[in-house]
Amino acid sequence: MPETGLVIARHRRHIVVEDARGGQHACLLRGRSLSVLAGDRVEWETGKDGTAVVLEVAPRQSTLTRIDSRGRREPIAANVTQLLVVAAPAPKPDWLLIDRYLVAGELMGATATIVINKAELLEEPLQPLETYRHIGYDVCATSAKRGTGLAELEQRMRGQRSVMVGQSGVGKSSLLNAVLGESLQTVGALSERGGQGRHTTTTATLVRLPGGGELIDSPGVRGYAPYIEDARDLDRGFREFRPLLGHCRFDDCSHRAEPDCAVKAAVDAGEIDAHRYESYLKLRELLGSLPAS
Ligand code: GDP
Ligand code: ZN
Repeated sequence: MPETGLVIARHRRHIVVEDARGGQHACLLRGRSLSVLAGDRVEWETGKDGTAVVLEVAPRQSTLTRIDSRGRREPIAANVTQLLVVAAPAPKPDWLLIDRYLVAGELMGATATIVINKAELLEEPLQPLETYRHIGYDVCATSAKRGTGLAELEQRMRGQRSVMVGQSGVGKSSLLNAVLGESLQTVGALSERGGQGRHTTTTATLVRLPGGGELIDSPGVRGYAPYIEDARDLDRGFREFRPLLGHCRFDDCSHRAEPDCAVKAAVDAGEIDAHRYESYLKLRELLGSLPAS
């Protein structure tokens, strides 16, 4: 009899499925065409020969998609509900990268929460944060070193399936260690059982957080470069642009130099933050240079 389950890890064709009772099963993929990711709901069954196979994948609410080393689209996790975009006073925040994650969150229908780690190093608040709060992003401050803000972070992860992303060195692993406590060992144990090194080969692993909620993690997930389909999607990815879309003179306005551009007018009037607009233009340019998938 087929059962339903949750994919908690995947390595090539080997998949770990958690059943409704919390038991874990190593499964194989039946069809070559099946695409299965950590976070997927699946139907699986144990055949007469004792091999467990995944039969079917339930439709996804969302897919985290990155650009692989060849510039192509690669899905890495399913049904993620929240991106925790981590930044810190040092290394200096890369706001373009932060905007890129925020766009990815908007386009995949996930909440994005900005986490400022190493908060104990801050002498004054990071100035751009006011803009992000103003356009509706939740911001929380943590220090993995001092152990402050962790309860606030855990509260934001409760009831969500999160991934932690951001530039290298901001303290993502430190924050993970701080909130995972003993469950971290489960992550390691899981991938070791498959005989693979944890840092290179496990695509992504789903863990349940002691404080509630789930986290999908792997080094590849933490530093992923979001894939954005085309420049038109980018318009919707900047949430403060949305009320203005459709109000430019030209339907295909690129919001760069066209006359009667509603976005440009809002920038000039100070209603849209000039740095966010600059990020938008840079991302547009960047996307234009990527090969189509
Ligand atoms: P990742 O690359 O984002 O995973 O960052 P790591 O967790 O590896 O941390 C990078 C460096 O920042 C390490 O030397 C950490 O000890 C340090 N670090 C992490 N969290 C904090 C913090 O809250 N305050 C300070 N001062 N340093 C931290
Ligand atoms: Zn326009």
